[in-house]
Amino acid sequence: MKYFNLIKYKCLNCDASFFVPELSDFSYGEFILESDSGEFKYLNTFEDPTYQEVIKLIEENKDKIRVQPDVQSIYGQLVCDPDSKGFQFSIRKTSCPKCRSINLNSGSVTEQKICLALLTHDKWDLLDKKTKLLLYIQQITKIEH
Ligand SMILES: [Zn+2]
Repeated sequence: MKYFNLIKYKCLNCDASFFVPELSDFSYGEFILESDSGEFKYLNTFEDPTYQEVIKLIEENKDKIRVQPDVQSIYGQLVCDPDSKGFQFSIRKTSCPKCRSINLNSGSVTEQKICLALLTHDKWDLLDKKTKLLLYIQQITKIEH
């Protein structure tokens, strides 16, 4: 668990206002992931080995597989447990929860803070190496098409 500043944004497309937790400027290697239903979780890649694991998967298979994905584009869906409603988390740009536009006015810092839980990988951790590779291949084939 860790506390984050809540930033207020306004969508320039549909006019909705919303709050998003934000990392400080000194947070290299840290991410806040958002699920498709709007839940947030925290990831510190120095403490969580799965991020390096995905980088390694990409590296080890780059000669065999034509597609070379960016780690951030597949990480959430590949290794993270879904949110409380069953939706997947992903590392992405801040977007409007109503219309998903990324055309936003710049966020203003609010007084409020929010406490976020760490991302979990219970499902991923139970898999063997072969199954992990299979899921990885499935994931990047989805991106390609
Ligand atoms: Zn919007």
